[in-house]
Amino acid sequence: MKHTASLKETLPGMGRILRRFAPQISKQRTLLFLSFLALLAETLLRLLEPWPLKIIFDYILLPGANRTALTLPGIGPVSTLLLLSLLTLGSIGLAMLRGAAAYSSTAGMAVAASRVMAEIRGDLYSHLQRLSLSFHSQAKTGDLIARVTQDITRLREVTVMALLPLFASTLTLVGMIAVMFWLHWEMAVIAIAIFPLFVWSMTRTSRQIREVVRRQRKREGAMAATAAEAIGAIKVVQALSLQNLLESTFSSHNRESLQEDAEAQKLSAALERTMEVLVTVGVALVLWRGVQLVLAGAVTAGELLVFITYLKTTFKPIRQLAKYAGQIAKATASGERVIDVLDRIPDVRDMRGAIEAPAFRGAVEFQQVTFAYNRPDFADQKSIEMNADTLCDVSFVVQPGEHVALVGPSGSGKSTLVSLLLRFYDPLEGRILIDGHDLREYKIDSLRRQISIVLQDSILFASTVRENIAYGCLGATDADVEAAAKLANAHEFIIKLPQGYDTVLGERGATLSGGQRQRIAIARAAIRRAPIVILDEPTTGLDNHSEQVVNQALKRLTQGYTTFIISHNLHTVEQVDRILYVENGRVLEQGTHQELLQLGGKYAKLYHAQSKVYSLQNKRNGGNNVIAI
Ligand code: ATP
Repeated sequence: MKHTASLKETLPGMGRILRRFAPQISKQRTLLFLSFLALLAETLLRLLEPWPLKIIFDYILLPGANRTALTLPGIGPVSTLLLLSLLTLGSIGLAMLRGAAAYSSTAGMAVAASRVMAEIRGDLYSHLQRLSLSFHSQAKTGDLIARVTQDITRLREVTVMALLPLFASTLTLVGMIAVMFWLHWEMAVIAIAIFPLFVWSMTRTSRQIREVVRRQRKREGAMAATAAEAIGAIKVVQALSLQNLLESTFSSHNRESLQEDAEAQKLSAALERTMEVLVTVGVALVLWRGVQLVLAGAVTAGELLVFITYLKTTFKPIRQLAKYAGQIAKATASGERVIDVLDRIPDVRDMRGAIEAPAFRGAVEFQQVTFAYNRPDFADQKSIEMNADTLCDVSFVVQPGEHVALVGPSGSGKSTLVSLLLRFYDPLEGRILIDGHDLREYKIDSLRRQISIVLQDSILFASTVRENIAYGCLGATDADVEAAAKLANAHEFIIKLPQGYDTVLGERGATLSGGQRQRIAIARAAIRRAPIVILDEPTTGLDNHSEQVVNQALKRLTQGYTTFIISHNLHTVEQVDRILYVENGRVLEQGTHQELLQLGGKYAKLYHAQSKVYSLQNKRNGGNNVIAI
């Protein structure tokens, strides 16, 4: 009992990890059961292994033993040579059988562990993809990637290389202790008298190792995050000459991680040596008492030999525990990092009883919607301060097919407002209705399928142009892709690319110009034929010519569909059906361009201010029309 408790102490967190992954583990139960049977067989064979030696010692080697013939119970007289040959063959047979059993159990468990880990990795990846934006906007990409790759790999390696052998040895240990008590209880008591010392030094050092390793894993996560961020934004890093600064951040993490690694190794090595000394003390004490017992004729020399052999085997798992303590601590830290992500519940998820959304007509209503980005969603970020409300009591109604512009100062909450429509976040108060029904009544996927979005900086994937467009609608045909590209004014330039629609783009579409990227993004949005379209400053940053081409495409994309246009350029939205002026998270004014000008409020002021700037620019450029959507 005492020993089991010590193992629990020594393998902190492992129990929690095993419990958490029980569903994945139970899928491999047949393989694990067979491997366990092989392990039991190995243990039994190991228990039998010293016995031929005992017989050789007691019946053949010792003075007074009958060296010519022996009478064995049930067999009768056998010659010494025959007995020796039988015992030798028996030893070889036992060793071979044990080898086969050990191979089967190790290989079986290793395969099961690999399958379990592959499934956990798959689950982790798909869970990450489903976690809400509130989680992703605070998490570090590099750190998350490290969890999906390194942490799972480490968990698998340690499970196979440390935990399984340890489990096997522990089973042997229990068997050996039982046999030792059966052989001679007094020597058995002496042998296990040093166990409390084992437990004490193991628990103490393991705790220290665990602390160091936890710090190290966190630092490695930070290192991966720094590297991912810098490499992902290499253009900015080089343009701003930030290489040295980022290098020094990275190398200071690197140095500290190295120091922590060395510290963990030292602790582990010290524990190993302590265990070795304790084992030697245990064996010496048993030998000291055992020899006295042999001399007194209480036990035979062969029995003492078997006892000492058992004792050495018994101490093996303890020595192994010391050897693997560092690795197990690392695996525990990795497992905790994986569980930390897996246990996060997406705060935006399908409600119970959510249904597939029917085809929308496109009527949208915000009813007293209030929202704030304030919920800490990531363990490392618990200190996030409560923000003031980003949106406050927002109410408006949009008719199907109506084009609505959201305008207002930067940071006023325009993008947040459309994020709520996509259910990237849920309102804290109020509700959003589409065709009279709360968004939350529908399954998220079925809702998002009916909304197209074009952002200011559209993200494309490192695959072909065709695939990038087809991502907009699962099951789209080549003809659909081409039609969407034509609508988006993209067909012309796509067919001039080296492999046309099959040209593979750079990561995030880096091999295209800004205007080209936007047109592919418009094609991707167009292919969905969604009844609701969101345009979040899709022409910002484009030159005049690209802006005109993109605007033509957008006009076609949005024709007849409910459309939300976020724009800083008020001249591009003069023609829309309605303008909502947003400031400090509130809709302060709404109406047509003319109505708002007549109102003479904030919108009118902003419009007149912009008009002055534009007329100056137009004079300089010789006049340049802005095409309104
Ligand atoms: P812009 O015109 O500059 O794009 P916007 O009107 O679209 O601005 P939002 O992007 O909606 O404004 O941001 C509104 C407020 O919410 C800002 O104060 C911003 O700092 C904050 N905010 C935006 N995204 C997040 C986020 N993921 N977490 C926390 N706060 C955020």
